Amino acid sequence: MSVVIIPTPGMAGGPCRGSCDHAKCHTMRAMADDKCHHCGGRFGFGTKITGEPAMHMRCAQTIAARDGAPATHPIHDPVAPHNVTTHRGDKN
Ligand SMILES: [Zn+2]
Ligand SMILES: [Zn+2]
Repeated sequence: MSVVIIPTPGMAGGPCRGSCDHAKCHTMRAMADDKCHHCGGRFGFGTKITGEPAMHMRCAQTIAARDGAPATHPIHDPVAPHNVTTHRGDKN
């Protein structure tokens, strides 16, 4: 999975500050204005973007963790002990 970082304006490789007519700068500004497919938030500059459709790196990691990592196993285990009341009371 490839990761793209939109460079911040004014940084090396980044778009010009303010408006300009460079096609490359327009592309980068358009990317930064794009919305994350997962959380719907604007990407902005300096953000790691990954995936197809594009989403924040952190959102992709959230999805990956939710879909498979053992760390997200539910804390409240539905399996309750059933035999606790078996030997209680009646025969005495
Ligand atoms: Zn430019
Ligand atoms: Zn997101």
